Amino acid sequence: MIRIGLFDKTSTLQLGPGSYRVSGKVSRRSPRFKEAVKIIPTKEGFTANKERWGKQVVIEPSDRGGWSWSITVRSGAIELDRRGDGIRVVNRVSVEDYVRGVLQMETSDKWPEQALKAQAVISRTYALRNRGRHGRSGYDFCAHPHCQVYGGARAERPRTDAAVKKTRSEVLVDRKGRLITTVFHSCCGGDTESAENVWEQGGQPYLKPVKCSWCRGSPPYQWVAKVPYELVDQRIRSAGIKIGEVRAIGILSHTPSGRVYKVRLYGQQGTHDLFANKFRNIVDPHLIRSTLWTGLSKLDGSWQVHGKGWGHGVGLCQWGMKNLAEKNMSYGQILRFYYHGVEVDDWTE
Ligand SMILES: [Zn+2]
Ligand SMILES: [Zn+2]
Repeated sequence: MIRIGLFDKTSTLQLGPGSYRVSGKVSRRSPRFKEAVKIIPTKEGFTANKERWGKQVVIEPSDRGGWSWSITVRSGAIELDRRGDGIRVVNRVSVEDYVRGVLQMETSDKWPEQALKAQAVISRTYALRNRGRHGRSGYDFCAHPHCQVYGGARAERPRTDAAVKKTRSEVLVDRKGRLITTVFHSCCGGDTESAENVWEQGGQPYLKPVKCSWCRGSPPYQWVAKVPYELVDQRIRSAGIKIGEVRAIGILSHTPSGRVYKVRLYGQQGTHDLFANKFRNIVDPHLIRSTLWTGLSKLDGSWQVHGKGWGHGVGLCQWGMKNLAEKNMSYGQILRFYYHGVEVDDWTE
């Protein structure tokens, strides 16, 4: 089972029409609602129409009809917890249903079958390896890009569902049979990167650079970002870097794959050195899509950054995966191309 935090503290919730099983301190165990009802926090717990529920309840659908929430839940359960003056909402689903709710959000059901299967194995491995990531908040994963984007049943599609079903229980393991860290990105721009060149914690032998000519020509392969001076000044100030207005940006070093490794910011009141990936994340990782810069200049009140690829560049390149799948490479071959020395294995708990 995987527990996904949908809300840490929401003030109201809507529960769709249908029949439910509710466990905990409740006035009725099997309420049926003909219309959608609002769940409202009270002193003792919650009310939903005329139902009274205690501070901790678990709700499951007892008929096959879909039921609406902020996301639609077709299987599993919803746990409600009174937190302060709000409600914490956690969706509890099986690992396979979790992957079904993630796959369309991280890919597209228009992608070739082998690419969808590769991504299903990646998402499942991620889920099993990183369970408890939000342990302090009382669940495993959030529903956002920080973990994996989870859309619940609303995100399920026949083709992505089929990819999950056909790879059921399959995960990626290293030579010792341990689950690997399945990081991926949208487009590498020609070469993937070593983990240690991007993050402080790195060194995994399966996260090493590969030459990838397969994403060439994809939409994010080449880009130009116009980054206003004020944006850079404001973001670095908010990040606690106090050097005044930035007058120049110097590139101090590159990684072997050609990504910018460290930059020096020359400000009115001093200089500051930092990792290029950190600079990118501080300023705007959607605007500065990668650290594979091919040019940097000043024009009309903006920094003009020319670059290639989208994302950190470590692990699997999704556009490369898509094109390899179109060339009839199998999902196992694709995964072994981007992650060194790994195997697809069946996971049993
Ligand atoms: Zn998260
Ligand atoms: Zn690539």
